Amino acid sequence: MSLAEALDMRPGEGADLVLGGATALDPAAGIEGVHDVVVRGGRVVELAAPGSAAADGAERVEAEGLHAFPAFFDPHVHLRVPGQEHKEDIETGSRAAAAGGYCGVIAMANTEPPVSTPADVEALREAAREGASVAVGFLATVTRGMAGEELTEMAELREAGALGFSDDGLPLVSARVLRRALQYQRLCGGTIALHEEDPELSGDGVMHEGPVSAALGLAGIPSVSESTAIARDAALAGYEDGRIHVQHLSAAESVAAVRVAKEAGVRISCEASPHHLCLTDEAVRSLDPRRFKMNPPLRAEADREALIEGLRDGTIDCIATDHAPHATEEKEVPFEQAALGVTGLETAFAALHTDLVLPGVLDLSLAVEKLGGGAAPFGLERPSLAPGSEANIALCDLGAEWTVGEEGYESRSQNSWCAGRTLTGRVLMTVAAGRVAYRLRSFSLGVAA
Ligand SMILES: [Zn+2]
Ligand SMILES: [Zn+2]
Repeated sequence: MSLAEALDMRPGEGADLVLGGATALDPAAGIEGVHDVVVRGGRVVELAAPGSAAADGAERVEAEGLHAFPAFFDPHVHLRVPGQEHKEDIETGSRAAAAGGYCGVIAMANTEPPVSTPADVEALREAAREGASVAVGFLATVTRGMAGEELTEMAELREAGALGFSDDGLPLVSARVLRRALQYQRLCGGTIALHEEDPELSGDGVMHEGPVSAALGLAGIPSVSESTAIARDAALAGYEDGRIHVQHLSAAESVAAVRVAKEAGVRISCEASPHHLCLTDEAVRSLDPRRFKMNPPLRAEADREALIEGLRDGTIDCIATDHAPHATEEKEVPFEQAALGVTGLETAFAALHTDLVLPGVLDLSLAVEKLGGGAAPFGLERPSLAPGSEANIALCDLGAEWTVGEEGYESRSQNSWCAGRTLTGRVLMTVAAGRVAYRLRSFSLGVAA
């Protein structure tokens, strides 16, 4: 089932496009080469020899020197609807996604109120059909109102279209509650996505516990707050034969815990965020909460290296932004008091390209593969350039330099962890679920920037 079908986007005009002479790279489909990428009626119909495809009424985009990737899929974003539309909504959040090369995202349920009833899910799906630029899937909470006690009506929520379940923003503290949820999951399906943290270990910590927190005199969150929760939940998932997805891995011990669980046959997947892959707690020395305060916190260099190794050896399935918009006044306060989270949809690819691909730390193909890896953990089809696929394409200029925030943001919020940085690599155009969802202003009809 295509993304448009699975996430029931309103049927629209399928794009007719020829991306002339693009370097097509889709590692998961074994595609790498210079092609005319031919899209008709919203589907990739052919990867033709460069210069050979007739436009035949389709728009021809001169794409020599540009890269065409399968558009990215983000399984972890906060769109703040309902209740905090001053931070983001479905329109602005999905526009930010399209600007970042994404064809689909999954929205978390920790809204105000949380997404805990079938009517909540139905209202969000309707809003997405009306106003989303890319495919948007929704999770419902595991527990009613995210109170951590009573389970939601999981089967009814699934029938209403919830892709899965998560209390993200908060951990599931009670092992009994998670166990019950895993038992219900057997009946109704739906991956359970877990924010892994032991609140008693995190205490009132505001950053990673280590030499930097000691030097700054800030309370720390130890790595084991995350990894011990993962080990417990992986054991529960194994015992109940449940399906879990671990969100935003940040620590080396966590990568090790997931690796052990996978080797034991537990049905577990996990994600890491660009900010945890690119930054360490050294950044917190700036005491800039707008860019560097989030949960889980930025950790040490050894943790960052372990996450990269986890991408390489397959322990980490995908890259997810945990895009978390916040209003300026919640961030322009002392570090300890500031809201948790950073935005990331518009910069994920460019940041990974600048910080990891260009220095030779991460292969471009692995970055592209992991940016598309977030669909499968939720039972959705991976975006692909293979002929016959629904057109989901990110057209990128790997040489373009741009300064983040200089031209504003598509997101309603400005707490980008890349704010003010000059990045190399830019998304020029995004096709999502068969439709052109985004074009960089300076990149219009057939004229490269
Ligand atoms: Zn979280
Ligand atoms: Zn989150």
